[in-house]
Parts: sequence; C-alpha cells; structure tokens
Amino acid sequence: MQKQRGLLVIVSGFSGAGKGTVVSQLCSEYENYAVSVSATTRDPRPGEEDGVHYYFRTTEEFEEMIRRDAFLEHACYVGNYYGTPAGPVEEQRSAGKDVILEIEYQGAVQVKKKHPDATTVFITPPSAEELVRRLTGRGTEDTEVIRKRLDRAREESVHMHEYDYILVNDDLDLCVRQLHELICRQHDRTANRMDFIREIRKELRGLEI
Ligand code: ADP
Ligand code: 5GP
Repeated sequence: MQKQRGLLVIVSGFSGAGKGTVVSQLCSEYENYAVSVSATTRDPRPGEEDGVHYYFRTTEEFEEMIRRDAFLEHACYVGNYYGTPAGPVEEQRSAGKDVILEIEYQGAVQVKKKHPDATTVFITPPSAEELVRRLTGRGTEDTEVIRKRLDRAREESVHMHEYDYILVNDDLDLCVRQLHELICRQHDRTANRMDFIREIRKELRGLEI
C-alpha cells in the first residue's frame, strides 16, 4: 500500500496561549510530525536559534523572499513580517509527514484558500486572565508589546469560530493528546484517503477468481 501523503495542520491561537509549548511536546511524544520553520523579521528571544525556531531575516531579505514567491503565506503581526517557506512544507508532506504550521489568522486564511483540505485548530487558554498570566510569565516581551499582543488577541477572538476545532490548553498533557487524536482522525477522512480508494478500485477492477 502506498504511504499516505502527509496532512497540513494549521495551529493558531492568542500569543501566550501555549501553541509553541503544545506543538513542541506533540513532536517529542509522537513521531510522524514535522513543524514548519517560519521566517520572521522580529528579533530572536533568548535561546532562539536561527534555522531552528525561525529563520531570522532583515526586512529587505524578507521582502526579497516575497518577490521570489518563496512563501506559502505571509503576514504582518505586531509590526513584524512572518511567513511560511513553501518548499519544505511540500517536501515533508510528500515524505508522509503531517506538517504543522503554527501561524496566525491572516496566514491561516491564505493557506486555507490554497489548500482547502488543511485542518485548522485554534488553541486557547481557559480564560483571559490566564492568558495575561502566561504572556507576562514568559517574560520575553515588554509591557508595550504585551499590550499590543493582547489587542491582537481581541481581534483574533472574533475569528475563533472559523476554525475547524478549538482546543483549550489548560492541562498541557491533555491538550497535546487531544491534538494528536484529532489529527489522527483526519487521516480517515475520505478526502484524505483518495489514493487508497483509487488503488483498491484498480485492484478490484483487475481481480479475477
Ligand atoms: P505561544 O507559543 O502560544 O505564544 P508559549 O508556548 O510560548 O505560547 O507559552 C506561553 C507561556 O505559557 C510559556 O511560559 C509556557 O510555559 C506557558 N504554558 C504553556 N502551556 C501551559 C499550560 N497548559 N499551563 C500553564 N502554562 C502553560
Ligand atoms: P511569536 O513572535 O510569538 O513567535 O509569533 C507571533 C505570532 O506570529 C503567533 O501568532 C505565531 O503563530 C505567528 N506566526 C509565526 N510564524 C508565522 C508564519 O510563518 N506566518 C504567519 N502568518 N504567522 C506566523
């Protein structure tokens, strides 16, 4: 039987909701995932490495990539560019990996237009109060940036219902398991099993007993 092409899974959520934490635990607990590494013009946080967490690029370099049509999608978020390099996503999906795009809403809309079969998941903390606690507790942004990210969270909350699934990240282990199970179920959708359907139809046509 042919290996199934990998799925495309979009994970969005308010800044500080725990997307990065959930996705990183998902990948360390389960095998068949590849996380797309985005390009961004924002500065690296302490501990973030170029090519691992992001490709850190200047605005000129990023705009050059836009001109070369190198992105599957790109967007501006709180004063910086973010974008998904297209090539690696295709390569990983062809190798059978389920590819996770951890991107914000505008990017999700662009990807969904190009790939209507993509599954979209919105990760949220259990409450707004907990969001503030996580965002400030992370200690990676100053008050002004946190304020802008919370403004953005208010805007993003308007679009939460457009996602296929909402996952509440309260208990981290539970949220990771729920995300994994939800992705596993997508593999059984008819639209994602067309190769198998074609193959067995062909086998049945050629069957002689
Ligand atoms: P995002 O990628 O959505 O911006 P992060 O993954 O950086 O968010 O998480 C923000 C902060 O919340 C981090 O300090 C992280 O350790 C913490 N965090 C993530 N998930 C949980 C959880 N389920 N319970 C408590 N804290 C969490
Ligand atoms: P952060 O600066 O906290 O790493 O990310 C800020 C926001 O940008 C988050 O909502 C994150 O999901 C989003 N983001 C990260 N990479 C991309 C990308 O390639 N494209 C888009 N559209 N958003 C991204």
